[in-house]
Amino acid sequence: MQITQLSHPLVRHKLGLLRNKDISTQKFRQLVTELSIMLTYEASRHLPTEFQQCTTWCGDIEVEQISGKKPTAVPILRAGMGMLDGLLTLIPNARISLIGMYRNHKTFEPVIYFEKLVSHLEQRMVFVIDPMLATGGTLIATIDSLKQQGAKQIAVMVLVASPEGLERLAKHHPDIQLYTASIDDHLDLNGYIVPGLGDAGDRLFGTS
Ligand code: URA
Repeated sequence: MQITQLSHPLVRHKLGLLRNKDISTQKFRQLVTELSIMLTYEASRHLPTEFQQCTTWCGDIEVEQISGKKPTAVPILRAGMGMLDGLLTLIPNARISLIGMYRNHKTFEPVIYFEKLVSHLEQRMVFVIDPMLATGGTLIATIDSLKQQGAKQIAVMVLVASPEGLERLAKHHPDIQLYTASIDDHLDLNGYIVPGLGDAGDRLFGTS
């Protein structure tokens, strides 16, 4: 698995602001959007382009344009929704695929309760977004499902990753690309990333 940890000073600065437990829901959302824009910029680096004819003020020239089918974003519910605005800021024509999943309390197996994916997944760049890569369970199950339905080029964008989650994800899906603003220290006994951000879903939705 190819792992890219963003080292830009603006990323470090905004992530630092995000770690403060006292910022408002509005500020938290805004920072998540800004960081998602920067992650999208990096993760979209390998989108293919083609030359097209363009009439400019000084005559006809060839310009580069993104080619092929439009990419799809796959926000992992619910916290992944917080990164969608940032992705759409840079790729406004992206299609959106949704997979809703919960964990069975007895078997701990992920169960899909909702799925609506765009067509021709095999021809699209697929951007999976989730702020926190903690144990990696939901992410692995989501990618399993995307691959079963044809997805081939998959990039995952997270704000914070745990070393444990990265190792598990790499074992299951060595062929994907992973973009993160930070690799944090460890997972605690409750599955929270330390230092992490706390419960990213609650902080994004104001439900804490
Ligand atoms: N989900 C979160 O929101 N935070 C964590 O630290 C782990 C999982």
